[in-house]
Amino acid sequence: MNYVNCNLCGADEWVVRFPSTLNGSADLDVDAFRCTSASYGRHPQIVACQQCGYVYANPRWESADVLTAYTAVEDATYAEERTGRELTFSKHLRDMEQRIGPANGRSLLDVGAYIGVFVEVARDAGWNAYGVEPSRWGVRMGRARGLPIIQGTQHSPALQNMAFDVITMWDVIEHVDDPLSELRKAYSLLKPGGVIVVHTMNIDSVTARLMGERWPWLMDMHIHYFGRKTLTAMMRKAGFDVFWTGTQGRYLRLGYLATRVRGLHSGLGQLAERIVKRLHLESVAIPVNFGDLFTVYARRP
Ligand SMILES: [Zn+2]
Repeated sequence: MNYVNCNLCGADEWVVRFPSTLNGSADLDVDAFRCTSASYGRHPQIVACQQCGYVYANPRWESADVLTAYTAVEDATYAEERTGRELTFSKHLRDMEQRIGPANGRSLLDVGAYIGVFVEVARDAGWNAYGVEPSRWGVRMGRARGLPIIQGTQHSPALQNMAFDVITMWDVIEHVDDPLSELRKAYSLLKPGGVIVVHTMNIDSVTARLMGERWPWLMDMHIHYFGRKTLTAMMRKAGFDVFWTGTQGRYLRLGYLATRVRGLHSGLGQLAERIVKRLHLESVAIPVNFGDLFTVYARRP
């Protein structure tokens, strides 16, 4: 594992926010990098920059190993959760159009598109939407539905001659090696006046503060923990004009939610699973908003 400087201000002075829970085994486990990984509570040391307050995993896995893990990742649970994701992404799209207007044939790139659920929802709404995704499995799944998904990252050669009206990053920025350079790359792939939408967990939220060590988003695959202050600062540093931030919820199937509760508290989780099963509520999707996810909208001047 490597020690890294603060991605926001470059300083290397930090205090420990959450000690490592890896118990000496620092092996990178590809399964832990699945989007639906249940490896809650397992994470490297998480620190806060003393200069700017940015929170990040340090030391952490080699960047090449992280990308290799994301290229190899397969996630059947996520594919099964398609209905819940469709509801969530439809809601994300509605919220987005409220802020930046309807498609009108505009182009959109979804970064970290995974199996392409947002790309599909956006295309259905008239966006000329593309996805880019490192997971070969995810790309295969998306292409099987006829979606234009490019395998790789924003740096893929196929993207370098393209320019987009909108770039979206849903639950992606907390996973990447170098968020500031990804934001700068997004800036260069946007047309002047284009909009970037970044959605991630909020380490400064009341939920995160109350739960402390037990906040479920503290996990292996999350290496950056933003708050509104640090994410907007980083987006400004990348050249963007931030024009909206706020919390957004998601839809989860009750059956799935119960299994996630188990990751938090096994007794409570088993009880929840039994109740959901008894009442045949597994496939009922409900809106969930713990206030610990947020979205930032910004424009390339
Ligand atoms: Zn810093």
